Amino acid sequence: MEPKLTDLTPPQGFERLVLAEAPEAGLRALICIHSTALGPAAGGCRMWPYAGDAEAVQDVTRLARGMTYKNAMAGLGLGGGKSVIIGDARRDKTPAMMRAFGQAVEALAGSYYTAEDVGISTADMAEAASRTRYAVGLTGGAHGSGDPSPWTAEGVFRCLRVGAARVFGSEDLAGRRVLVQGLGHVGLSLAEKLHGAGAELVVADINQAAVQDARQRLGAASCAPDEIFAPQVDIFAPCALGGVLTEGSAAQLSARLVCGAANNQLATPAVAETLRKRGITYLPDYVVNAGGIISVASEIHRKDDRWRRDRLAGIAERIAEMLARAEAEGRTTTDIADSMVERMLARSRNAKPQHAQA
Ligand code: NAD
Repeated sequence: MEPKLTDLTPPQGFERLVLAEAPEAGLRALICIHSTALGPAAGGCRMWPYAGDAEAVQDVTRLARGMTYKNAMAGLGLGGGKSVIIGDARRDKTPAMMRAFGQAVEALAGSYYTAEDVGISTADMAEAASRTRYAVGLTGGAHGSGDPSPWTAEGVFRCLRVGAARVFGSEDLAGRRVLVQGLGHVGLSLAEKLHGAGAELVVADINQAAVQDARQRLGAASCAPDEIFAPQVDIFAPCALGGVLTEGSAAQLSARLVCGAANNQLATPAVAETLRKRGITYLPDYVVNAGGIISVASEIHRKDDRWRRDRLAGIAERIAEMLARAEAEGRTTTDIADSMVERMLARSRNAKPQHAQA
């Protein structure tokens, strides 16, 4: 049976918010399209046990808007969108649910491309892709770009080096103490790279098995998930969920550099200024974590590995420019990044609408 799609009123400035329901497959999902000004919307699908629809709407809209900024900044010829499935990925997810989700994405007729995010694996995306042409991040096939997470981790790692060069005077991470929050697809890969570069790790995850693994294999120290601001560290790498940097946590943070994969790390935009005033360099999440969507975009646009690698290299170059400008102009890096994207979007609004080719 086709899932039932209901258009909800989207927040101002958003294009579309759709509730997709297929009770027989256990699916209750929200798909949000923030903007297609620069191309079809693209952004991952997250599965999370939200307390209710309101919490899910808040998350999917924030994430979809973030994708518009991320995709614009990375020059991918894609707009911004995101989807969330309400439920516990470890307990509730089934192949039938993912197929029903794929049908919902197909019904949007290419205005939204989906891929993996928190709680969703390449195997889940393959199930969705059996029902839609607009599921990417697939393994195999002529154009499959595979799991985006290693690309995200590599982009974050490179930016972290650029940030370290500016903050500590050297990109060498040997002996630097780095706290990695979240040891999932991206966080674990990042922790492995940091370990390889000689960094001292402190890790935190709600999943104790992941923490034990990092302690044993990577010689990491660990702390409780609700004590991540207690250890003295040089660098904080948030790789769990959003909203970790609040006015309160920004005041407690010992790190001088923040660079991680999580989307929407700042609970409110004002936290960026609090961090700046404390002399903490924050690398905007949607700039540093674009590696995964770059990989996914190569699949959407049918581009080769060289295209993907060139764009990945562009992330760290952009961060270096932003850091130099932030220092010269006495502004936050988020302010600089946001104003760059807003100029791009304004230019596209003034021009005749067209879906740019990457
Ligand atoms: P994942 O689901 O594989 O990993 C998330 C990890 O965070 C899990 O191990 C989970 O147990 C842990 N976690 C959840 N709440 C926590 C808490 N309060 N404290 C400590 N750990 C907690 O997800 P992922 O794909 O690794 O993504 C991580 C973050 O990066 C997310 O915010 C995601 O949106 C963002 N991101 C991911 C990609 C990608 O390519 N996967 C791309 C861009 C951004």
